[in-house]
Amino acid sequence: MALPFHQLVIASGNAGKLREIQHLLSPLALEIIPQSKLNVPECAEPYCTFIENALAKARHASQHTGLPALADDSGLCVDSLQGAPGVLSARYAGEPKSDERNNQKLLEVLGDSTERIAHFYCVMVLVRHANDPEPLIAEGQWVGEILKEYRGQDGFGYDPLFLDAKTGKTVAELSLDIKSRISHRGHAMAKLLQKLERLSHE
Ligand code: IMP
Repeated sequence: MALPFHQLVIASGNAGKLREIQHLLSPLALEIIPQSKLNVPECAEPYCTFIENALAKARHASQHTGLPALADDSGLCVDSLQGAPGVLSARYAGEPKSDERNNQKLLEVLGDSTERIAHFYCVMVLVRHANDPEPLIAEGQWVGEILKEYRGQDGFGYDPLFLDAKTGKTVAELSLDIKSRISHRGHAMAKLLQKLERLSHE
């Protein structure tokens, strides 16, 4: 794909996300730059929707670097908790952010409930410049179930508690390659790349 740019800033400081995004973009001839390398300060995420937070993060990173930027806003939504932790997924158990405490809180809140259907949601936003009026936007979902105990060592966030019905494994038991193919992030990125491809032919 002949891209209209050669460098892309990733508007995230989350090591797990960065690893997956880098893997997903690896087939492209693109220099991927985590925003921390360019000293971009953390962006506020005050909004109650994923899309608003993703747009804010992408614009913020682009504004600080003068480069195109990609943001991923994502989270876990549990049906029986009316979509919680949702946009608060990273900070479900408060500050400082902790995957371990978030998972513990989720287990406590769900207790013995049998209503454990949940989905991961991801929205990706790519802006070519900070005031881009036509950001590229794509979303992805991954439906599963929250277990009562941890399984697996890989991944990040809620991965050890999220069971994928098709493979019968938690996300923390899946390789990076498999997760990238079936995850919310993988689906969002596939759609984003299709949009990028169309753009590169214009
Ligand atoms: P964000 O950085 O504000 O988008 O928050 C993302 C948070 O959602 C992460 O810190 C995790 O708690 C959760 N999350 C998003 N995607 C995943 C995933 O692929 N696996 C596990 N947890 C995830």
